[in-house]
Amino acid sequence: MSKPSPKVFDIITIGDRCKECEICVTVCPTKVLVISDVMNRNGYKVSYAAHPEKCIGCKLCEWSCPDFAIFVKPGEGKSRGLITWSSPEKAPEPAVAR
Ligand code: SF4
Ligand code: SF4
Repeated sequence: MSKPSPKVFDIITIGDRCKECEICVTVCPTKVLVISDVMNRNGYKVSYAAHPEKCIGCKLCEWSCPDFAIFVKPGEGKSRGLITWSSPEKAPEPAVAR
């Protein structure tokens, strides 16, 4: 019988909704989350799962976020931290090459 694989999770931030309040960072019991250097169009730096392998799937971050900006779901073999956007227009503008 094969050994059950350890549970892994994907932690997804919807960057345009994040207001850099750090509530998710504070409530996470295993210190998965940080405020990243990615700035959204509202001028807020976006929360990011820097240590997704430490996630235990408790969803405290998801339930605590006042802006519905972070979600946790079972991963597919590899824990991941992702920043995504509600639509392509909501993504930060790319840096202009000079
Ligand atoms: S994801 Fe939600 S709780 Fe975390 S910093 Fe952004 S707005 Fe705050
Ligand atoms: S689900 Fe729990 S352990 Fe995982 S990032 Fe959110 S608060 Fe941290």
